[in-house]
Amino acid sequence: MSVFLTTVPVDEAVRVARGISPPPREEVVPLESAFRRVLSRDVFADIDIPGFTRSVVDGYAVRSADTTGAGEAIPVMLRLAGRALMGAGEKPPKMQPGSCVYVPTGGEIPEGADAVAMIEYCEVIGEEVLVKRPLATGENIIYQGEDFRAGEKVLGAGKRLLPGDMGILAATGHDTVPVAAVPKIGIISTGNELVPVAEVPTGSRVRDVNTYLCRAFLEQLGAFPVQFGIVRDDPAAFEETLDKALATCDAVLISGGSSKDERDLTAGMIRSRGEVFVHGISLAPGKPTIIGLANGKPVIGLPGHPASTFVVLMVIARPMVLAMTGNDSERPVTVRGILSENIPSAKGREEYVRVRVNGNQIDPLFGKSGLLNTLVKSDGVVKIPAGSEGIETGTEVEVILW
Ligand code: AMP
Ligand code: MG
Repeated sequence: MSVFLTTVPVDEAVRVARGISPPPREEVVPLESAFRRVLSRDVFADIDIPGFTRSVVDGYAVRSADTTGAGEAIPVMLRLAGRALMGAGEKPPKMQPGSCVYVPTGGEIPEGADAVAMIEYCEVIGEEVLVKRPLATGENIIYQGEDFRAGEKVLGAGKRLLPGDMGILAATGHDTVPVAAVPKIGIISTGNELVPVAEVPTGSRVRDVNTYLCRAFLEQLGAFPVQFGIVRDDPAAFEETLDKALATCDAVLISGGSSKDERDLTAGMIRSRGEVFVHGISLAPGKPTIIGLANGKPVIGLPGHPASTFVVLMVIARPMVLAMTGNDSERPVTVRGILSENIPSAKGREEYVRVRVNGNQIDPLFGKSGLLNTLVKSDGVVKIPAGSEGIETGTEVEVILW
């Protein structure tokens, strides 16, 4: 029996794809170049943040006990003992009972004070300050180490760095950052009918769409795409390009030629350089998908229909690429809504139906897998589990957004 007839469930295919993904190498980059990279180690605070107890407002540092009972009509009067200077090397003046010290936002709280009265609630009369509100201990103050303690883990390995993370890395003294090396992933488009984008296809030829789908997909996930162009369905040409891709990349995506027809070369090419683990997945669209190892490198054979290619990239290649980039923090972006039409589905295969999100309403877009227009019109897909015969109108569904 052919391997193709024995399709494997999506979960198993994902497990196989992940299992053959080599873990990333590590490199150290300057902080300036670390944005969107994936941390390869946990990162710790080298100092307390903040390093001193500071005010979160412009105001007067006080002893909260001195402000008990203060109000608009009966303010308490405190002696202005001085001002805290921003960034000063020395401590601000120590505070005696019945006094206060002016502290700007971010300024250091003097010893003896435990709250800051906002200037909006104070009135200065010569050397005296009238405070018109009672303050609680700790009010308008951030204590030393309240944000992060020296030695505390601030970011975990596997996180793709966001703008806020860059700020934390700076605050914790990381002028260089340990990150996962970006995997190089080759893209080969196969098919006698394919022409480059710049050409106008004649007869039954079509432009090569998948190279660019794959490329964008890889860039979005933080991998480095390497294009190997269009290869004819000719074993010699295919072998030459595949060997070049395997020699220079960490993994290869091959579009087209993934079915069981004798003109479909992908499976044989992988087998002669290693092993095919999966040939056929209970996935729609995307059944004729191959997962294998060639010369020790993971190879995914993608079905040629662009909409199928896209689903296989999302469902099967994504976990593999994320594993190779060391990224364990990426979650698909989803929204929920109410289905506006029945989606029928054949039991026994996991199905992905493209949908448009219309406020709270989710409209399915039914289209043949060869059509590109539903890809553009859609906002994402709804997954129909393998064990389900479809989803009925009015059901709440989750949309995985593109
Ligand atoms: P295949 O998987 O090679 O049998 O191709 C299935 C269908 O997808 C055929 O109609 C191909 O013309 C089309 N196809 C294959 N590769 C591409 C590509 N790179 N860009 C656009 N369409 C493609
Ligand atoms: Mg083909």
